[in-house]
Amino acid sequence: MAVLWLDDVNAGDLDLVGGKAASLGELTGAGLPVPPGFTVTAETYRTFIEEAGIDEELFAAVDVDPEDSAALRAAEERAAELILGTDIPDAVREEIVESYRQLGPDGEETFVAVRSSATAEDLPDASFAGQQETFLNVREEHLLERVKECWASLFTQRAIYYRQQQGFPHEDVDIAVVVQRMVDAEKSGVMFTSHPSTGDPQIIIEAAWGLGEAVVSGSVSPDNYVYDRAQGAVADVTVADKKTLMEKDPETGETVEREVAEDRRNERVLSDAEIESLVELGERVEDHYGEPQDVEWAIVGGEVFMLQSRPITTIAESASDADTDTADGDDESDGGATNSGGGGDDDENEDVLVQGLGSSPGVVSGAVRIVTKLDHLDQVQEGDILVTEMTMPDMVPAMKRAAGIVTDEGGMTSHAAIVSRELGVPAVVGTRTGTKQLENGRQITIDGDKGTVRAGADSEAEPAEEFEPVEAARPQTPVKPMTATEVKVNVSIPEAAERAAATGADGVGLLRIEHMVLTLGKTPERYIAEHGARAYQDELIEGIRTVADEFYPRPVRVRTIDAPTDEFRDLEGGDDEPAEHNPMLGWRGIRRSLDKPDVFQQELAAFDRIYEMGYDNVELMLPLVNDSDDIEGAKRQMREAGIDPEEHRWGVMIETPAAALQIEDLASAGIDFASFGTNDLTQYTLAVDRNNENVADRFDETHPAVLELIGQTIETCRELGVDTSICGQAGSKTEMVNFLVEEGISSISANIDAVRDVQHEVKRKEQRILLDSVR
Ligand code: PEP
Ligand code: MG
Repeated sequence: MAVLWLDDVNAGDLDLVGGKAASLGELTGAGLPVPPGFTVTAETYRTFIEEAGIDEELFAAVDVDPEDSAALRAAEERAAELILGTDIPDAVREEIVESYRQLGPDGEETFVAVRSSATAEDLPDASFAGQQETFLNVREEHLLERVKECWASLFTQRAIYYRQQQGFPHEDVDIAVVVQRMVDAEKSGVMFTSHPSTGDPQIIIEAAWGLGEAVVSGSVSPDNYVYDRAQGAVADVTVADKKTLMEKDPETGETVEREVAEDRRNERVLSDAEIESLVELGERVEDHYGEPQDVEWAIVGGEVFMLQSRPITTIAESASDADTDTADGDDESDGGATNSGGGGDDDENEDVLVQGLGSSPGVVSGAVRIVTKLDHLDQVQEGDILVTEMTMPDMVPAMKRAAGIVTDEGGMTSHAAIVSRELGVPAVVGTRTGTKQLENGRQITIDGDKGTVRAGADSEAEPAEEFEPVEAARPQTPVKPMTATEVKVNVSIPEAAERAAATGADGVGLLRIEHMVLTLGKTPERYIAEHGARAYQDELIEGIRTVADEFYPRPVRVRTIDAPTDEFRDLEGGDDEPAEHNPMLGWRGIRRSLDKPDVFQQELAAFDRIYEMGYDNVELMLPLVNDSDDIEGAKRQMREAGIDPEEHRWGVMIETPAAALQIEDLASAGIDFASFGTNDLTQYTLAVDRNNENVADRFDETHPAVLELIGQTIETCRELGVDTSICGQAGSKTEMVNFLVEEGISSISANIDAVRDVQHEVKRKEQRILLDSVR
């Protein structure tokens, strides 16, 4: 028999049907409403390779040096060729197809999920063994091919590498395949049979319209229902504004996102009766396994289905003694039939504890370390995930030690986002509730691309590392693309200078000095009072030189200080700072410098000394100017510090609509360049706080209003012979790069991790413009 029905298997059948199928069989056997399905057993795979006589060649082909990546690639290809190129024996084909036909109503084509179900229970970490293949919405036409692809997933490069390295014989691993009817959910979601962090006897249900992927991936805010098990009643209902839903496109069978009809957006998804049905189901499954469960469910035509159930792994140890053994006996996180789309990456979206903005790329795992006060910083150990409301500059040493960073507040241009990118530390910002929902010591995995924080450690996560090796930043093409538009890089912490220079950037478009100052732990005033003006200058010179040396003779634009008062407040001497309601609109940038000439003079003296040392690649840049009065004031200060503005290249940031609109006035004051600080220009144009996660979705640097200000400014600057540049975060975005090159900007400064892509994008755009002009 090539196949076994889920009705006929249980948790004990791991060897025969693999962990996933065993778990689904167990639930089916317990009378829970699991969508019907069957498994193509592990034995069937084994007989297939043996009878076709490809087994020996297959195992020989994958017996390669795991450190030889070319050999690994070739091994994966050969294994796939052997498996996909061999026909499944007729009798087996018939049995699979016949079983498939029984899954749906007569004469109608049924969509099924086809997933691999590994039997390698002996592997210490089965998830490393590959076997993660998942195909959704499969029809009869592709069924057998998909089954073979699941078999071939036993020999991905990663799986081969792992087994070779562990000395685990390839011959000892088998694979089964689950084929299960898809559920076209009208509503779906997740249910925790006990509170997922405290273990309290509450059933928490999250529900949204359509397929479950929207809830699991966090792309829609679901309704939230709390059921008090002690009282036996619904205790709390929070109806969310559900803007989108996922559903199957009837034509293509693909999962697509659609807008929810206006009248259903704020409608409650679950009736009391449906909640009762789910609760009853939740209690049964918890009873069956004897521990709290995390259940994925779906409702269609009034019928409730259970798609998957796993033990809750997020309950704090003190709150529950539930351990993390998976009920399904393997480490794979995706269990039952699925109604979620996206071809397999639903695996990664499970266990999402909190969601924010992915602000520094990379996936890492580590233990949560919540930092609320400065004096807790030393508790952050190498490899921890630093979780905090918002990072402050004095947290940089701890941020360097951390494997990853999670914040409650902040957007893509916040301190945490900027610094973590430069450190090469993955980060998720703006999770709103990270510090409340994550407990100290809990293992989590953060994804700095997707913005997710998941429970547990991920074997795929990169090992924690203070800095990405310099090699990782070096352009892979031996010669970087030559572009007419210069591509530069932003630096905020001098320690990142080497990585920044290794990108092959044409210079530094923005070197922020705030971090050099704020990491002193004292306000500039206090530092100067205690250590003297010369010592303050020395600190600045050291930081600036580190970067200027690394890039010499490429130009480095060093900006004078631009920290808002709230960032100074937590430092020694911070009590003397004014308490401002709107620090972003307050005493920062050139305003403060002009009002505090004593301190500004020391900064300028540092520039003067740098010039005297021969760093003719250093260019001075003034932040947050509005008009030529600001510039004239700064020029007076420069002269007083011994700097002749005519002798050095210097310029201003364009960060306010005023500066953009006054560009002629600014140009007449003698600037060499104007650099768009789109982080501030966007916040001041749209009146959207750049650090406020509640309005993060409205922070749009490519808003037509922002683009119009930039476009006009570039045009005027070109007429007046002033160079233009961008050094805000948007310079790393493709759409902005294309716009700026089209407009004729002189240079673009990007984040370290984006330089390479921006170089290529600029090149492409320039070539397109050239081609268009000759056609
Ligand atoms: C900007 O405003 O875009 C900018 C680069 O400056 P900062 O992010 O330091 O305010
Ligand atoms: Mg700014």
